[in-house]
Amino acid sequence: MELNPAPVEIFFFPFVGGGHQIPMIDMARTFASHGVKATIIATPNHALSFESSIRRDQNSGCPISIHTLQLPGDLDISDVDMSASPQTDTSMLQEPLTNLLRQTRPDCIVHDMFHRWAPEAIDDLGIPRIVFNGSSCFARCVIESLSKYKPQEEVGSDFKPFVVPGLPDPIVLTRSQLPVFRKKPGGQIGKPEEKSFGVLVNSFHELELEYADHLKRETNKKTWLVGPVSVNNRTVADKTERGKKTSTDEQTILSWLDGKSLNSVLYISFGSLARLALDQLTELAHGLEASDHPFIWVVGKIFKSAGKENNDEENFFPAGFEEKMKESNKGLIIRGWAPQLLILEHESVGGFMTHCGWNSTLEGVCAGVPMITWPITAEQFMNEKLITDVLRTGVKVGNLEWLSWDTEPRTVVGREKVKAAVERLMDGGEKAVGMRTRAGELAEKAKRAVEEGGSSWNDAVNLIGELESCRKSAN
Ligand code: UDP
Repeated sequence: MELNPAPVEIFFFPFVGGGHQIPMIDMARTFASHGVKATIIATPNHALSFESSIRRDQNSGCPISIHTLQLPGDLDISDVDMSASPQTDTSMLQEPLTNLLRQTRPDCIVHDMFHRWAPEAIDDLGIPRIVFNGSSCFARCVIESLSKYKPQEEVGSDFKPFVVPGLPDPIVLTRSQLPVFRKKPGGQIGKPEEKSFGVLVNSFHELELEYADHLKRETNKKTWLVGPVSVNNRTVADKTERGKKTSTDEQTILSWLDGKSLNSVLYISFGSLARLALDQLTELAHGLEASDHPFIWVVGKIFKSAGKENNDEENFFPAGFEEKMKESNKGLIIRGWAPQLLILEHESVGGFMTHCGWNSTLEGVCAGVPMITWPITAEQFMNEKLITDVLRTGVKVGNLEWLSWDTEPRTVVGREKVKAAVERLMDGGEKAVGMRTRAGELAEKAKRAVEEGGSSWNDAVNLIGELESCRKSAN
């Protein structure tokens, strides 16, 4: 018998782009904190965006490292920016990855679902393969139900509501809120989970217990909930450099927030990928001004409409808006990338207007802030339902139409809707207090889930145990 067996070794193979890369890196750090030898697989270019946080972990003794795959000549993934498209082709990594796996034979590899070629390439090697798909159990349950029962095909119009069958709660959607491929009869995507060892989820049982159980029953797959993984960012450096370096320095942001009262500020962000059109930015600006609540607004990429005149990246706000916000100290505008965790955790922040990306949703939950939901694409309309109808910690702004990230928006959410949603969330009325209280309770549960003995802690320990058993039975 081996007295000191080598620690379990897990490879983490993240995709490029914010919403998928960021949580996978944090997940690798979660397992390293449990003593697993965690190796992140990337290309040299890709590794640039997370190597300093990994170096900090290494300096504090964490068994984590980056392995960069060498590619011939100038070959690399075409886009490793935080806003890389989910369609980005990574297939040039197949050969170096499989060579590495043959040589090193880790106990397991966790790969992002967007490496579409990975299941076929890895499954022949006899190394347990775990899928990370970046979404909640709730959204996965909705997607499973839509594929199985196809209620979206029974309704006569895109805006006619239908109930998603077989779920623990009566979830109502419209076809207009679904991704294009799910609107069309027969629309399907591949199932990387099918032959996998299991699925890792960035979530925690107390947030969506019934949906986690439902998902396990429906898919018959081992599923471990090990989140929220963002809690691994404990230092200011980790929080300010997560994904990208912040565009406005953190001291400016923190002192601006220090000058505001408890729970008074609304934080607005649409994540790493969504692009708002100019008309939409204008309406949002008017709505915020009319609601008269302090805000931090992260203005990321902008959708440039073909054939429209005012496509000027610098000048898209209504005349005088930025100056007025500056003078009155009402609004802080960040152009580019914001230190989201640092902002959300500040006690002055009392609301989050979010596009309902799953990471942002969870980060809002961890910070205990109620949300204004403004879903745009991917599974964000499903996350909206979780926030507003199941957890009851947010209000909808009223966006009704799903949009592909690269498609010209057809509709805008008007300024009246923006103003109304901000007032409902931030006005301190009875309903707002209820949402805030529930949000605070969930934040406490999130904290407990990742502590020793908590549900996410236990799921991570259980997975490590299973991998140890696999190793023993193979010997
Ligand atoms: N993010 C950030 N600063 C920004 C924009 C995004 O730190 O200015 C982070 C955010 O905290 C989250 C991730 O990027 O962890 C975005 O993931 P999410 O699932 O919310 O949305 P996506 O970008 O995939 O649409």
